[in-house]
Amino acid sequence: METPKQPRSTNYRIREGLSRLATVLRADEWGRAKAVGLNPTQLAILDLLQARPDGLSVKEIAAHLGVSQPSATDSINALEKKGHVEKRAGMADGRSVNVHLSAEGVAVLRQSASDSFTQEAVASLDDDEQQELLVVFVKMIRHLQEKNAIPVQRMCVSCRHFAPFVHSDGEHPHHCHFVNASFGQRDLRVDCRDHEQADPSFRAATWEAFKAG
Ligand code: SF4
Repeated sequence: METPKQPRSTNYRIREGLSRLATVLRADEWGRAKAVGLNPTQLAILDLLQARPDGLSVKEIAAHLGVSQPSATDSINALEKKGHVEKRAGMADGRSVNVHLSAEGVAVLRQSASDSFTQEAVASLDDDEQQELLVVFVKMIRHLQEKNAIPVQRMCVSCRHFAPFVHSDGEHPHHCHFVNASFGQRDLRVDCRDHEQADPSFRAATWEAFKAG
């Protein structure tokens, strides 16, 4: 049994904490989804398709959600029946099919936006704590994507436009070449619509510069 004199490892206790947060996050997502007549997987697909003008294939959707392709297909078909998504020929060869958010799907996402316990918990942290937490999550997500545990996310640290710690301004040390502007740690993106995936060697060099900063 765990006692104050014999605590489990820090790693274990952090995972316990993440597990508690995941429970609340899941409950929040159930509430959000139920309010618009969907289940959480269906709502997660609509969230994922936001700001993706080229849509995503079923395979990509399944990988992002960590579900099997048949399971993703069932959810996509249900969303298509409700008119929330559309299937269109892919850009690459005209034979593949990509899934796109429909105008109705966009409206459903707007309706589903609501305050949540997770949002409240994040808001209870001060600005510096929120910034530190964001950087920690960026590091953890980046680790998982480099291990191929999750697809590459549209984060600054995997983007070819990202130049970390190139400015002397402590509040805005990074540069985004896409918009040609400096920005700070608190503005690091986790899912940026303008993200363009950098090749592995660029990503590795960018990561070293980010860590060293
Ligand atoms: S385009 Fe987006 S992801 Fe890329 S560096 Fe700029 S803000 Fe970050």
